[in-house]
Amino acid sequence: MSFHQDFEEWERFCRRESCPVCQNWPEPEDHVTIQEFPTSWLIAHPRVCLRGTCCLLLKPHAVELYDLADPDLLTFMREAQICARALKGVTGAVKINYEIHGNTVPHLHMHLFPRHRDDAFPGAPIDFRQVTPPVYREGEFAAFVTAMRAAVSGLLAERR
Ligand SMILES: [Zn+2]
Repeated sequence: MSFHQDFEEWERFCRRESCPVCQNWPEPEDHVTIQEFPTSWLIAHPRVCLRGTCCLLLKPHAVELYDLADPDLLTFMREAQICARALKGVTGAVKINYEIHGNTVPHLHMHLFPRHRDDAFPGAPIDFRQVTPPVYREGEFAAFVTAMRAAVSGLLAERR
């Protein structure tokens, strides 16, 4: 539910002490951590509406990008850069889309979507109401996670 439907709950979630992420509320079932970075976790879930969808979840509590001090902001964006490059390499996407909403869970996170010429959302943003999961074939999600881990590790090794 977004703040449009339950504003009081959303406001409660904005505070660290009642934020579902910071309070370690049960994660969605089947969620996988692809990589832990200094300021974020790259996670993925098999029940998405576009293959290769990932989410970069900030570790410290923040609601808006402008809440981050420069060191965390720069580190988070560098981590997003690595994830996007890995995602492009693994999926062969034409374009990576980046989305920061927080209208439901206001703990800063960035959705990463690999876009293809023949994806299900031509000329439009990703709309989970348009496609019903699953979009992965048998074994495809596990293979994606394995490939992403290798790609991220490779990019991190290059930077050292
Ligand atoms: Zn939080």
